[in-house]
Amino acid sequence: MTYPQLKYANVPLDRADALRRDPDWLANRLRHPYTNVIPVWRDRNLIKGSETPHMHIALCRQETGARVIEAATELVFLGGTDNDLAFFAADLSDCEETEAVDLAGGGSFLDLRSVGPLVDSKQAALMAYARGMLYWHRQHRYCGRCGQATGSRDGGHRRQCTNPDCGHKTFPRTDPAVIMLVEYRPEDGAPPMCLLGNHHRLPANVYSTLAGFVEPGESLEETVAREVFEEVGVKVAQVAYQASQPWPFPASIMLGFRAQAETTDLVVDQNELKEARWFTAEEIRTFGEWGDESISFCWPRKDSIARFLVESWVKEVSRFTS
Ligand SMILES: [Zn+2]
Repeated sequence: MTYPQLKYANVPLDRADALRRDPDWLANRLRHPYTNVIPVWRDRNLIKGSETPHMHIALCRQETGARVIEAATELVFLGGTDNDLAFFAADLSDCEETEAVDLAGGGSFLDLRSVGPLVDSKQAALMAYARGMLYWHRQHRYCGRCGQATGSRDGGHRRQCTNPDCGHKTFPRTDPAVIMLVEYRPEDGAPPMCLLGNHHRLPANVYSTLAGFVEPGESLEETVAREVFEEVGVKVAQVAYQASQPWPFPASIMLGFRAQAETTDLVVDQNELKEARWFTAEEIRTFGEWGDESISFCWPRKDSIARFLVESWVKEVSRFTS
């Protein structure tokens, strides 16, 4: 493939859309001893092994898989493999944590935000997909139109209102958010600079790209321009798409852009950011890794599209200026 391979994307399964609507096939796969069940407990994924590289996703099969299927409040068919192995996500959130761990044959339920950077991309994508689908189910138990209970359909890829006079259908959703690297290329030949900010939710020395949610009635390019102006008072032009990444924390897709700044004076919105600054590529190359408290500035987290956008820019500018 020619596009960037970012973490949490590229689930290693055939999503098998046609099979989702075949209840007999789904029931048969749920009884199959080698069906893989991915347990999720209150948005946390089950992990075996305590440290990288031994840390890995827990896949329950045979008796353990059957036990988890029996106890689950929601099951979602995630897809299959070339060998006809099926994968399901199972929600154990109604159990107590220790009960859920015992049912699933041991391990620890951990937040994907802490585990994602430590496991390989295929496992991270499977965990993100399972977590994202089950999060959606828990948020859509009741009909948004008439308030009655909804039920899962199509292997967990649709919910439908159980009120026969309503029957409203809802589908899994993901909230679009833009994330942008803003650059400024001075006309006097001085080194290009990029704009990074320290968000309130980040450690004090982590500097990352700006981001924000798309609002109804906006194009993605408009959102990029609006968010940059709101957060730091910079006007941008030439907004260009770069890459995207599913970001299931809890339910977004991050749409990555590069934007050219027309102005450089910063007016930081303190509600959004603690600080924002312009950096040259040379300065960014000296950044430390997330968690290094001995250094003034750190990169965004390794599994994020923010990291990809900043690294791509640093590489490109370094080629351009060397
Ligand atoms: Zn309804």
